[in-house]
Amino acid sequence: MAHSNDRAVWLKGPQAVCSAPPAGNGKAWRLVLLGAPGVGKGTQAELLAERLGSCHLSTGDVFRAARSLPAEERSPALNEAIACMQRGELVSDETVLSLVRERSTCLKCRGGFLLDGFPRTVPQAEALDGLLKELGVGLDAVVNYDLPIEAIVARLGGRRTCSQCKAVYHVTARPPRQEGVCDHCGGELIVREDDRPEAIRVRMETYERSTRPLIDYYAAKGLLRTVSAEGSVEEILERTLSALRVEAR
Ligand code: AMP
Repeated sequence: MAHSNDRAVWLKGPQAVCSAPPAGNGKAWRLVLLGAPGVGKGTQAELLAERLGSCHLSTGDVFRAARSLPAEERSPALNEAIACMQRGELVSDETVLSLVRERSTCLKCRGGFLLDGFPRTVPQAEALDGLLKELGVGLDAVVNYDLPIEAIVARLGGRRTCSQCKAVYHVTARPPRQEGVCDHCGGELIVREDDRPEAIRVRMETYERSTRPLIDYYAAKGLLRTVSAEGSVEEILERTLSALRVEAR
């Protein structure tokens, strides 16, 4: 049974309390979602969270949430991370890993998790393996969303993100009911700084160099499920569920 969780611990840190802790009934799915920027991972993560009940844990969302903190509450490492994000570059493994370690309660949460945007480098994947081992939990699968580059560029250009709840839309493929307004919370829809053309180019190069090697890394562990990210969000969701062998509703 799906639940709705505000992901407070993930977004704000371990001192926060989640609004609706997972019920813990049914299977706790523990998944990593891989794919180039713009492939639709964030959208699929939201739909999978609703369908499977696991929390959508995006490291990008943590950095975006940190940006709205008052300056005195941001550490130098966090300021540097925000600057990297605005340029479309990767944040250092050290900063990302300390942030994820701080939130390790989310990884052992009985509702499971859907990691989106982490790991993004082989050292991050190795560190995640170590952390999960310490916590006594394992990954069920790694879903790799696959899409030709031209389609990726078209998707990124039309992407709009809610400035409040971070829900993701697309001007043609997944428009909101009212233009510029989030269906979920009424927040304003914006173009993310890192969805601007220059930052998109840097992100694609970074993906090829640093993140693509994770496909072989997880294939070697027998965890990889490659799913075509072409078609509608519903089609991609169905493909994902069948790759995971989750029965259709
Ligand atoms: P995303 O929303 O996953 O596309 O992340 C937005 C930006 O946050 C990325 O372009 C990076 O600058 C930064 N970021 C998010 N997750 C990571 C990560 N695991 N490693 C390094 N940088 C990251």
